Amino acid sequence: MTLFDSPAFEGHEGVHAFSDEKSGLKAIIAVHSTARGPAAGGCRMWPYASAEDALTDALKLSRAMSYKNAMADLELGGGKSVIIGDARTQKTPALFEAFGRAVEGLGGKYWTAEDVGVSVADLTYARRNTRYVAGLEGHAAASGDPSPVTAEGVFRGVRLCVRRGLKRDLDGVRVAIQGIGNVGGHLAQKLHAAGAKLVLTDVNVEALRRVAAATDAEIVAPSAIFDADVDVFAPCALGGAVSLDTLPRIRARIIAGGANNQLADAETGRELFNRGILYAPDYVINGGGIINVAGEIRALELGEAFDPAWVDAKLDRLALTLEEVLEQALVERRPTHEVANEIARSRIVGAAEKRAAA
Ligand code: NAD
Repeated sequence: MTLFDSPAFEGHEGVHAFSDEKSGLKAIIAVHSTARGPAAGGCRMWPYASAEDALTDALKLSRAMSYKNAMADLELGGGKSVIIGDARTQKTPALFEAFGRAVEGLGGKYWTAEDVGVSVADLTYARRNTRYVAGLEGHAAASGDPSPVTAEGVFRGVRLCVRRGLKRDLDGVRVAIQGIGNVGGHLAQKLHAAGAKLVLTDVNVEALRRVAAATDAEIVAPSAIFDADVDVFAPCALGGAVSLDTLPRIRARIIAGGANNQLADAETGRELFNRGILYAPDYVINGGGIINVAGEIRALELGEAFDPAWVDAKLDRLALTLEEVLEQALVERRPTHEVANEIARSRIVGAAEKRAAA
């Protein structure tokens, strides 16, 4: 299959491959859309089995960023970058400096930030060679790690789904969290504080034990998380957690979590709907982090300090958007992800038409 035939390519404006022999950088930056503004989305470092796997991931993630940024009502398009490599053993300052040069080469078409495997410290090296980096620390416009804000948005989304789907509050609700990293860890703390009973898993056993101890949670093996007897399943690891294979095992009535690309495919989304499971579309519920990043981009562009109140207002608006999606899906008896896709596409197409007419 060629790049242009790939189902994940759908509508991409540009796909850029970079290699730097000296530092070992192999990276792909996918720009899905700049209709609403410069493409923005994090950088993921992952030991992909092949360049093709990396490409598919970059394409899927960048399209999801276009949808996410549109649903978060940001003046940003969608893009994403992936670095092929093991974040535990292959990170060097030179690698991220080379990545910064790659981002700079796109001349502001793409803004990067953190994603799985990439930290604030890593991006500080990228920043040496490009200004198109957000999610940093130590300057007036800086917004820091976006994960706590992502987790706050997911927390509000879970609470909304529980209120709508189970007609109750979070106290005593059982939630299974797959992946207790940056987002899942903060989410676990917030849910625990709200009285939820947690079942947690992660492949990082040490971190898992730490978070479970702090949140009075039950621990299960990664493969057993789908069978947990819970009300809510919150995928917070990598994509594709909900598939036609795992769905028959999922006992939760609600799926709402922080991971990107939670549904393995569109058919799974349909099947969720057929089974009466309430699904909070991933790129809507997890938009908090990119809102925080957008706050930094905005501050940099305006030459102002980072404004947490602007971020909070956008987070409130995001919760309303999620509610609108759930309500429309209920009224029209349609899967939530289809409704969200439709709204996101119309916002992107609307912006493109406005730009063409200007
Ligand atoms: P992270 O790397 O800090 O956490 C991911 C965790 O998942 C890690 O602890 C990892 O060990 C675990 N994990 C990986 N495979 C697993 C498996 N098979 N079973 C159980 N656990 C597994 O990453 P993060 O920043 O917390 O992001 C988590 C998800 O949320 C990703 O899909 C990311 O794209 C998405 N997301 C993150 C942000 C953000 O602000 N960080 C924003 C939006 C979306």
